Amino acid sequence: MSNSDGSLDGLRDHADQPMRYLARHYLRGYGPELLLGGVSTVVSAALLSVPAFVLGIALDALFQQTRPFALPLVPNGWIPTTVAGQFWLTVGIVTTSFLLASVATYLRGWALNRIAQDVQHDVRTATYEEMQTQRLAFFDDHKTGEIMSVLNNDVNQLESFLSQDLQSGVRIVVTAVTIGAITLWLHWQLALVTLTMVPLLGYASYQFQQRIEPKYGDVRSSVGRLNARLENNIGGITVIKTFGREGYEADRVEEASDDYRSANWDAISTRIKFFPTLVLITAFGYGITFALGGWVFLFGEGSIFTLGLSAGTLVTFLLYSRRLMYPMQQFGQVLNNYQYAYAAAERIVGLLREPDRISDRETGVELGTVAGAVSYENVSFAYDGAEETTIDDVSLDVEPGETVGLVGPTGAGKTTLIKLLVRLYDADDGTVRLDGHDVRDLQVPSLRDHLGYVSQEPFLFGGTVRENVAYGQTDVTDDQLEAALRRAGAWEFVSELDDGVETVVGERGVKLSGGQRQRLAIARAVLEDPSILILDEATSHVDNETEVVVQRNVAEVVDDRTTFVIAHRLSTVRDADRIVVLDDGAVVETGTHEELLSADGLYADLWRVQVGEVESLPDGFVETSVTADD
Ligand code: ADP
Repeated sequence: MSNSDGSLDGLRDHADQPMRYLARHYLRGYGPELLLGGVSTVVSAALLSVPAFVLGIALDALFQQTRPFALPLVPNGWIPTTVAGQFWLTVGIVTTSFLLASVATYLRGWALNRIAQDVQHDVRTATYEEMQTQRLAFFDDHKTGEIMSVLNNDVNQLESFLSQDLQSGVRIVVTAVTIGAITLWLHWQLALVTLTMVPLLGYASYQFQQRIEPKYGDVRSSVGRLNARLENNIGGITVIKTFGREGYEADRVEEASDDYRSANWDAISTRIKFFPTLVLITAFGYGITFALGGWVFLFGEGSIFTLGLSAGTLVTFLLYSRRLMYPMQQFGQVLNNYQYAYAAAERIVGLLREPDRISDRETGVELGTVAGAVSYENVSFAYDGAEETTIDDVSLDVEPGETVGLVGPTGAGKTTLIKLLVRLYDADDGTVRLDGHDVRDLQVPSLRDHLGYVSQEPFLFGGTVRENVAYGQTDVTDDQLEAALRRAGAWEFVSELDDGVETVVGERGVKLSGGQRQRLAIARAVLEDPSILILDEATSHVDNETEVVVQRNVAEVVDDRTTFVIAHRLSTVRDADRIVVLDDGAVVETGTHEELLSADGLYADLWRVQVGEVESLPDGFVETSVTADD
């Protein structure tokens, strides 16, 4: 799924024809805007070709007086007979063309920018929604900064391509075709010379594209790594400060920034060599058009070309060659941005099409009421890339309403076992069942509706206490909120906060203590009123006094529902109906507190650690167990 440095480039594997994919899915329904954008692009390019053409005719007819004043597509009867009349007609045509072209340009800008804004919005929200359905393993493999960069930079890249470069590209093609046709009609021999510059410029652009492509890839990867590093360091600033590693981290940031600078410089130095080349080709085209055309004008037909050339036609040619080649210079830029947009689209589509996600909204069984029977049948699981299995052939039946304590040394697999029930991950072997249903057959949202999970590291979002506790439920009354906070033992401190439940807790809840965060997380689970409650070391950050309060309150909540309590403090699970002891991913003991103590196995050892009877531990226990936290 990802390559070795964990970058999102791995997503490209799933991104066949990304632009076509995005167009098919996100340009539908924009028919009228596309039509308006296309038509106004063609119309404005055509209108902007008119002045040079009419000026050439006026120059010959009015100033040189070498031919009569006649305009193609305009009946002779419409043309004034006086010189002054013909002069003002010329002025009128030139100004009207520019005026109408500016209206067309406005319409083009309106239509194409509308599409670009709507599409970037749709793509971003769709990408975000898809990201949310990814298996958790996806987030283990991809760094936050890199995922952010798809949702932000890549989507923006696509937007700027749609709103600017796409229309420049279309305009360039339309201009080249219109001017090509008119100049060929005016003087095909000179036109062939002038138009040769178009493929030359095209070839130069193509060469550039070939060279720059891999360099842009490096730029993207290095900016991704830089973002990831910054994100990490801002998140971990407490660790950096407390360990005094500011210098070390500053060096690492400097290194990442330097990589980015070199990659960027590499790309830029290729680019800045390219543009002068374009200017040279353009100048050459302009010069040769003047030289050949001027010579033929001065010395007549037969001197170089078989066809003669008037001064007016020469002026038209010179004006056109500017109009033709100047946008061709931009063609490189358009291709350039197309490269960026294509790479961005690859990553976006890669994310949209990332397979293996835990998502079965359409096909899964929807759960109605849930009794709360959970069973693990010979379940095994290993994290992606891990050498050892984390869960090793676990079988466990839990009755509805039963409270099960999960204990064992750190890293034994307690949390992982629960993640398989919640379907943050799926078992590799065996089956996890809820009320007899294989959890993989259930609709994920429907499954999660019945589960309340208070994790080891409760995550609070930047927002108020109310928003965090009622998280996503809009119809929670003040009374319900207060009741939930009381049950979780959180009411006392919340009511003392400046704005009570409306107090903003700060990003990730940094303004609260660990214990306070934990209690809010418990209140969140309580308010959800799930059939199955999971407390993952729910009281680990809580001081002893609070723990008693929480335990007493949670006991109330636990009563009628299936509950899993993952605990390091064995006192937390002392009263559980059953205690399951895990070691190295396998169930090694089950029983009540008393039964396990008398069995004198791992649980009894862990218990001795907690009550301070370290001397009576068997030899080797301390070495093999990284254990309980009190
Ligand atoms: P416990 O809850 O018993 O402390 P865990 O279930 O959290 O244990 O972890 C069990 C093992 O799985 C540990 O060795 C841990 O390092 C590993 N582990 C946990 N989460 C991940 C992950 N996202 N990716 C890879 N390995 C993991």
